[in-house]
Amino acid sequence: MLTMKNVIREGHPTLTKVAKDVQVPLTSADKKLLREMLQFVIASQNDELAERYELRPAVGIAAPQINVSKRMFVVHVTDFDGTLYSYALVNPILKARSSDVIYVPGGEGCLSVDRETEGLTPRYGSVMFEALSYDYKTDQLTPIELKLSGYVGIVFQHEFDHINGILFTSKLFPSLPQAKPAFEWIVEQEEDYVTP
Ligand code: ZN
Repeated sequence: MLTMKNVIREGHPTLTKVAKDVQVPLTSADKKLLREMLQFVIASQNDELAERYELRPAVGIAAPQINVSKRMFVVHVTDFDGTLYSYALVNPILKARSSDVIYVPGGEGCLSVDRETEGLTPRYGSVMFEALSYDYKTDQLTPIELKLSGYVGIVFQHEFDHINGILFTSKLFPSLPQAKPAFEWIVEQEEDYVTP
């Protein structure tokens, strides 16, 4: 299984490289990596497993963060309305985006960035991705179109940036006057909310 020891950190050259398209059909190594990345993220959200294996809680991870420079990432995140978005994506393409800009209040976090950061990262309010979606339980690779907005959309944009060699630390602004927080209501309720 993957642990934090497999995650490369800020400063590693693979994190700033544009990743290569994945060959289809998938190799068994690519399938294994997709399954293990999704299992890593799911385990990281389980308090007991996260403690036992010293996993930092995460909602997504991209192949370049495991030092595999290929266009693959996984997301496992539950939106505030309870909807689960659990995907292992191959060769995603950003097909459309809205013009409004949003951000995570308090700033984003990343498994590849160990230090505290200051600043806000601008993201599109809504995005549309086309990709191949891999289901390791059925071993099926299926074309998919995903329309995402708000916080969940930000998670996908963060992972998509990884396969283009971009870390959120290169997109930090002290303030974003034209932008809206992705979930202001949480900030009002819980001052100490920790960003994913
Ligand atoms: Zn990241």
